[in-house]
Amino acid sequence: MAALSEGGRALAGGTELVPLLKEGLVTAERLVDVTGVLPRGISGGTIGAGATLAELEVDPQIPAALRESCRLAASPQLRNMGTIGGNLLQATRCWYWRLDFPCYLRGGDRCHAKSGQHREHAFFGNELCASAHPSDPAAALLALDATIRTDRRELPIAELYRLPTADNRSTTTLEPGELILELEVPEVESSVYLKAMDRKRWAFALVGVAAARVGGQTRIAVSGAAPIPWLLESLDAATPLPGTAYKVEIARALVDRAVASL
Ligand SMILES: Cc1cc2nc3c(=O)[nH]c(=O)nc-3n(C[C@H](O)[C@H](O)[C@H](O)COP(=O)(O)OP(=O)(O)OC[C@H]3O[C@@H](n4cnc5c(N)ncnc54)[C@H](O)[C@@H]3O)c2cc1C
Ligand code: SF4
Repeated sequence: MAALSEGGRALAGGTELVPLLKEGLVTAERLVDVTGVLPRGISGGTIGAGATLAELEVDPQIPAALRESCRLAASPQLRNMGTIGGNLLQATRCWYWRLDFPCYLRGGDRCHAKSGQHREHAFFGNELCASAHPSDPAAALLALDATIRTDRRELPIAELYRLPTADNRSTTTLEPGELILELEVPEVESSVYLKAMDRKRWAFALVGVAAARVGGQTRIAVSGAAPIPWLLESLDAATPLPGTAYKVEIARALVDRAVASL
């Protein structure tokens, strides 16, 4: 914890951070291997942040939406290395950001995707940055109304994320050096995760829909839809770009299927 608070960067599975370091998109004075200190077990609804996606996808204690979102993420090799904590904190896959354009999310004053290529981008929350959050498990955890425990606080997963603003371009509320330790997933009656991809395997979600039912209420969250995982109230409130209007129709179909499946 001391090394983290002195500007070190947490390294868990490294599947996200190492490529970003190699590309020079992220710099760090020091990497802090946190795999030895992160809780890793799964006990009922309590999940250690160091649990890998591969461990989660096969554990019968895990609600179906979260299991399925892990199973449909990335490739088997990546799921064997990648932790759930690291997955929730992965950076955008927006190609302008990954090509180091000085865009809004990087502190600039324009979103290159909105006026350029954006078929994989957002249809909600895209006023300033139109990136689409890439995490499948984050949408599942949002539908399941999970809680996150860090080394300094407990917060609903919805509060882990924020839309970037003029004075703060971050998409998470984590403080420097703050470490996610555990997730708490409440029991639900039923849940499901459906994902539309360009390929049937090993692709990020064009749209992912997670739905969970508890006490007669259904919570729906979407991935690939906004710069952060998005709790869905109504698709009629979508603000698609010319190139992302097709995603609203995909989302509509997946929501219908998810609700029918619940
Ligand atoms: C080719 C490719 C395809 C992918 N496809 C998908 C996909 O379809 N769906 C999907 O959901 N994901 C996908 N991913 C993302 C993948 O699931 C993540 O890379 C992985 O889960 C990250 O976990 P990690 O332990 O390797 O994180 P790391 O690379 O170790 O860390 C990622 C980030 O999180 C921080 N961090 C890690 N753990 C903690 C913690 N406990 N507390 C605070 N900060 C922490 C690190 O400092 C770093 O900033 C893909 C990744 C790749 C490379
Ligand atoms: S979508 Fe976001 S990350 Fe991509 S170019 Fe626009 S501001 Fe940058």
